[in-house]
Amino acid sequence: MAIQRTFSIIKPDATARNLTGKIIAKFEDAGLRVVASKRIRMTREQAEGFYAVHKERPFFGELVDFMISGPVVVQVLEGEDAVAKNREVMGATNPAEAAPGTIRKEFALSIGENSVHGSDAPETAAEEIKFFFSDDEIVG
Ligand code: ATP
Ligand code: MG
Repeated sequence: MAIQRTFSIIKPDATARNLTGKIIAKFEDAGLRVVASKRIRMTREQAEGFYAVHKERPFFGELVDFMISGPVVVQVLEGEDAVAKNREVMGATNPAEAAPGTIRKEFALSIGENSVHGSDAPETAAEEIKFFFSDDEIVG
């Protein structure tokens, strides 16, 4: 498996509880390298655009309101098999179903306030990285 890049968001429930360092340590311990990072407050338009794939889901409004409720840290993670590795470190969407040691098991509050986002495939990773970063902001 070649070196890949994936896109990550540390969500508002985690920034509010000052957990960014603990979450980044989980990525680094798994062999993922942070090659781009910025702390931002998403606009409603950004959040709606980023989650457009979920716009027909019943939780869409709640999801957008949550994602703009506080600062987030958007990041590009690089490493062997980075997309799958990041999903493994994150754990299941619902923290009640997440495996021991995963970010969501240790830190998530609920299925909505679940501390992190991670791309689900290499193609979506490329699109999501472009949504938040220009090429010169990524330094591998
Ligand atoms: P993410 O895309 O954030 O990495 P995921 O791929 O595990 O998470 P998705 O199915 O893509 O999960 O859902 C996107 C996000 O929408 C979830 O991370 C969660 O914050 C929220 N969400 C999903 N299902 C629910 C639900 N039933 N109720 C409330 N929020 C939900
Ligand atoms: Mg998803």
